[in-house]
Amino acid sequence: MKILTFVIAGFLASAVQAQQPWALDAVKIYPAPDVSPITGTIVIAGTKIRAVVAASDKGTTSVPRASQCNGGVVVAGFQNSHVHFTADEFRDARNLAAAELDSALTRMLTRYGYTTVFDIASDRDNTLALRDRIEKGDVRGPRILTAALPLFPSNGLPVYIKHMPTELLNKLPQPSSEAEALRIVRENFAAGTDGAKLFIATPQGDGTIKRMPLEIARVAVDEAHRRHKLAFAHPTDIQGIEDALEAHVDILAHPPLGAPAPWPEALMKQVRDAGMSMMPTLKLLQVELEKQGVTAAVAEQVLTENVAEFGKFAAMGGQVLFGTDVGYVTDYDPAREYELMAQAGLTSMQILASLTTTPALRWKEQKQRGRIAGGMNADIVVLDADPADSPRNFAAVRCAIRNGEIIYAKE
Ligand SMILES: [Zn+2]
Repeated sequence: MKILTFVIAGFLASAVQAQQPWALDAVKIYPAPDVSPITGTIVIAGTKIRAVVAASDKGTTSVPRASQCNGGVVVAGFQNSHVHFTADEFRDARNLAAAELDSALTRMLTRYGYTTVFDIASDRDNTLALRDRIEKGDVRGPRILTAALPLFPSNGLPVYIKHMPTELLNKLPQPSSEAEALRIVRENFAAGTDGAKLFIATPQGDGTIKRMPLEIARVAVDEAHRRHKLAFAHPTDIQGIEDALEAHVDILAHPPLGAPAPWPEALMKQVRDAGMSMMPTLKLLQVELEKQGVTAAVAEQVLTENVAEFGKFAAMGGQVLFGTDVGYVTDYDPAREYELMAQAGLTSMQILASLTTTPALRWKEQKQRGRIAGGMNADIVVLDADPADSPRNFAAVRCAIRNGEIIYAKE
């Protein structure tokens, strides 16, 4: 009886705690990329931001503070729209110890402030198991959206994934007919996935590129749209972008990295006018050039050229979504990506938009997330330094808060 009383009392205490508002004080709050920053306090109640109180307003807040998150620069939670849960540290997500998954998620994502991620190719059942454990509260982590099993051209896995475990490679769909493509996309959606991913063109390593027939790409994209979901494409080259446009793809997982400059201006305008988003993944190009063993001078030249071409797309008003391809890229630190985006001409506030308001709008969740304001989801990043001083400061994360819960706090 005593034990029972204790359990009930404990339950009530934690329930009260969960309901009780708490707050964090910020030296600077960026409510949104297009709103002037203020100094103040953010009050959080349950999963929502209850209020943002400017320091000039007296008599705020006697509510408790999360002291480890106080005193930083506050922005909305980030979305990384291009990740993969394919690394060894996520394999067997159903059975791995919670602490191991927790630390893998911290290393790859939450320590950099990603409160939402879109996994755009992985072992479906494993990623869904990982998501379940996070949503049950067994593991701390970001909100996971996933395209799960991507589609490749028939007999057309790209050369750069051939090192992956055979067990995974054997699961990767390479449909040779519209009916097969439709069946695979439907299976993905029935399992609970959130989008479709097409490898529309894949380099084979012998100088040839395999391409997905337009009618197969179309069937997959149309099925995603029928369910009000978005379709991603890996374009590889200029023709891949033309094909993605023809298939009405929504999001390019990369620019045509490595394509000779200048990228055709008319095509880039078409991408912009179609409302198709592009993810820069510029650090990926640097990583791949290093792998190919080209000289430092050549690598530097190719990278500079591609950064400038991407910058032209952004400057003409093309929609930019932040994404890094981590999971495939094994160096998880995004500081260099932010630096390259700035080199492409994006301001700190444009980079912030690619991480917050643009994905919120793209996923039609702008009423719930992407900004720091009363009534929004309490998805919050606290930075140690101001991104206005350096774009690298977007990676200097002190705390990440998702739905009102601290999912990362710097030691
Ligand atoms: Zn990728």
